[in-house]
Amino acid sequence: MSMKQKILIKIALMSLLTSAAIIVIVLFNFRQYAINATTERAEVISELIKNGLVSYMQNGTMEKRDVFLNNMSHTKDVDKLWVARGEAVNKQYGEPLKNEIPRDEIDKKVLQSGQKYIKLDEKLNSAILRVSVPYLANGDDTADCTKCHQVNQGDVLGVISMEIDIMPIREEGVATIAKIILTALIAIFIVIILTNRLLDPYLELFESLKASIKKASLGNFSDKIQSPLKDEAGEMVREYDYLLEKLDNTFGEIDKKLRTFVASKNHMPKDPLSDAENIVGSLATLYQFKKAIELDVTKDDIYNRLAYVFENYFNIKRFVISEINSQTDEFEVALKHSDCVYCTRILGSESSNCRARRTGTTVISDDFPNICSYFGDFNEKHLCIPINIGSKIGMIIHITTDSNEGFEQIKKHTELIKSYANEASPVIESKKLMKMLKDSSLKDNMTGLYNRRFLDEYVDKIKPNAIRQKINIGILMIDMDHFKMVNDSYGHDVGDIVLKELATILNESVRSADLVIRYGGEEFIVLLMSVESEEKALEVGEKLRTKVQNKEIEIGSGKYLRKTISIGISMFPSDTDSIWQSIKYADIALYKAKNSGRNKVVRFERNMWEESVNF
Ligand code: GH3
Ligand code: MG
Ligand code: MG
Repeated sequence: MSMKQKILIKIALMSLLTSAAIIVIVLFNFRQYAINATTERAEVISELIKNGLVSYMQNGTMEKRDVFLNNMSHTKDVDKLWVARGEAVNKQYGEPLKNEIPRDEIDKKVLQSGQKYIKLDEKLNSAILRVSVPYLANGDDTADCTKCHQVNQGDVLGVISMEIDIMPIREEGVATIAKIILTALIAIFIVIILTNRLLDPYLELFESLKASIKKASLGNFSDKIQSPLKDEAGEMVREYDYLLEKLDNTFGEIDKKLRTFVASKNHMPKDPLSDAENIVGSLATLYQFKKAIELDVTKDDIYNRLAYVFENYFNIKRFVISEINSQTDEFEVALKHSDCVYCTRILGSESSNCRARRTGTTVISDDFPNICSYFGDFNEKHLCIPINIGSKIGMIIHITTDSNEGFEQIKKHTELIKSYANEASPVIESKKLMKMLKDSSLKDNMTGLYNRRFLDEYVDKIKPNAIRQKINIGILMIDMDHFKMVNDSYGHDVGDIVLKELATILNESVRSADLVIRYGGEEFIVLLMSVESEEKALEVGEKLRTKVQNKEIEIGSGKYLRKTISIGISMFPSDTDSIWQSIKYADIALYKAKNSGRNKVVRFERNMWEESVNF
């Protein structure tokens, strides 16, 4: 049943109830009116009879009263009328006429009590009102009953009884009620028609609002509503449409952007609002992942974190992450999760056979039977995602499952899985690079530190990574104070011992991710990677300076030597976005340290650069 029908039925019922109540009240009043009016009439008739009988008495024609009473009994609508004499009168004047004997118990009761008696005898097709009025002795001047009757004032002389038909009044009442009913029905009909007309635009508005809100709750904000109403409802419609437009514009944009992040291209959104909520939730988790891997130390830490995400966030039970060796082009298993038949197959094989590697696209076993030759007779469903490391495909995520339902879930999450891998990729790259560099022969033989060539090669690779990961690098240029004197006083060998000792102190005092480089003769550079702040870099510089100053260097024959160092510090990228320029700045700060007394840590300042240029 429609809303409109419900309202109209309720209004009709309320109107009917009100009409019924009015009819009942009218009916009751009419009945009461009939009784009262008839009683009054009966009293008037009895008064007339009383006066008539008094006249007969005074004229001494009492024996002819019969005729009078008979005439009176033919009064209109009076069915019966009779008079019964009381005991006192009988006693005084002898036996009454036959029709003057009390006819029933009511007559006797009224004669005895002197009280008026009224009773309505109602049936379906008749309504008779019985009224019995006592004839009391009174004593006024015109007709003092006690003059002739041997009675006291107020004694009952007789009773005048009559039965009056009140059917005509009742019929009149029924006709009136019929008219009321008819009027009420017409009124109800008009009320319903008017209400219908009045409600129509509101109900239409209600229906369109209901439909529009339903669509909006599912993310469709395009269903604006129209209404001819000009009142508050019309204003509400305009506000609602404005709100929809705003939501449509802003949410549409947000939705589009979010979807490009993680949602599958094939996935048609059923409920964009809750989809968006899920996507934002996923992005927040992705962000947490990104923050976590940035502080990881090794490549394996990052792979393990990826494995955790795959297993716990996407419920992937079987997967392998393989790396492609850039020299041999072979697969190397970087991480395998649970028993994996497939791993033994790919290990050491040429990666170019892998369809995902070759095409650079995600390979899904559902797309075509035996889609990838690697899998051959392997029955499980598989999904392989190629991920770039640097500018080339350097990693493949192979996922397998025998569950249809599980595979559908994995497919649905492909874009998000890719997002995680893409976040991990540059960090993995930098870890690989670090490892490669640390393992290379670009080291200084005497101190075991990286040499200047290493720095030449490394600087170009370090910059894009540092910018992508938004990290600070603190650059410390270190030079031993008056080192020439060591050579001059103790010989070159002792000089070498001192340099090795300095190298050890530097290497042991910084984090494993930091780089210590022998830049030249007795000059060193320390790159503090991911240093939290400039203050922290200065703190490290000060720590190095103090350690060297406090170190007693054994130079043979039981002799010890103490040396000091000067340090110039610059910060990348806050001082300049060129690492070479930062090194230059650190050198200028070092020069300042030397000139201002040595055994100092000096932070590069811009005016030093101007001074050095002018000089
Ligand atoms: P300053 O406080 O101004 O730095 O004075 P300094 O004596 O340290 O300055 P200078 O740069 O003039 O001296 C550096 C000396 O280091 C010159 C060079 O002979 C010596 N040297 C460079 N490489 C080696 C090395 O591998 N072994 C030894 N023993 N000495 C070296
Ligand atoms: Mg020196
Ligand atoms: Mg020097």
